[in-house]
Amino acid sequence: MAVREILQIGHPILRRVAREVGADELGSPEVQQLIDDLVDTMHDADGGGIAANQVGETLRICVLEVDDNPRYPYKPPIPLTIAVNPVVEPVGDATFTNNEGCLSVPLRGEVERHVDVRVRYLDRDGGGHDFVASGLEAGTWQHEVDHLDGVLFVDRVTDPATLATWDEFTAHHREAFVERITAFVAEADAR
Ligand code: ZN
Repeated sequence: MAVREILQIGHPILRRVAREVGADELGSPEVQQLIDDLVDTMHDADGGGIAANQVGETLRICVLEVDDNPRYPYKPPIPLTIAVNPVVEPVGDATFTNNEGCLSVPLRGEVERHVDVRVRYLDRDGGGHDFVASGLEAGTWQHEVDHLDGVLFVDRVTDPATLATWDEFTAHHREAFVERITAFVAEADAR
């Protein structure tokens, strides 16, 4: 188990565009160790996802998992997913307003995300995956792939007045957000 330090906003590596992982290096001990470290670090921090830039490595790898997380009780579960060279493309024009946080940013804020995105990636064994993610899961994919392009959610906050610390979000905004997003999740499920 290797929990790595999570870089915080202002660290230049968070602003770098990560490079693709070559087919010849995916199986290397270094890349496989990095994947294990990302999973351990995400679990230790109770996050729903983490990208390699956040632990100081500019390779296009991110990991996602949402599993009865007390930080996100309203989020539909995502099984542990290791995504190498992920590509996310919008499907259709629909967007929704998400309230996002990030292990590298001590704030939350409102961001517009595509409701449906086509996701393609390789798993840690090089197997290809191609599917459409929707709703909050689509938002998570967009957030993680942004990291690999050096983009943080704060760059996409349309109204800076929505920025809040976790404590102030919990005290003043969480209830309304959970109500709105729970209705959105139910609507997405009914489609
Ligand atoms: Zn993040």
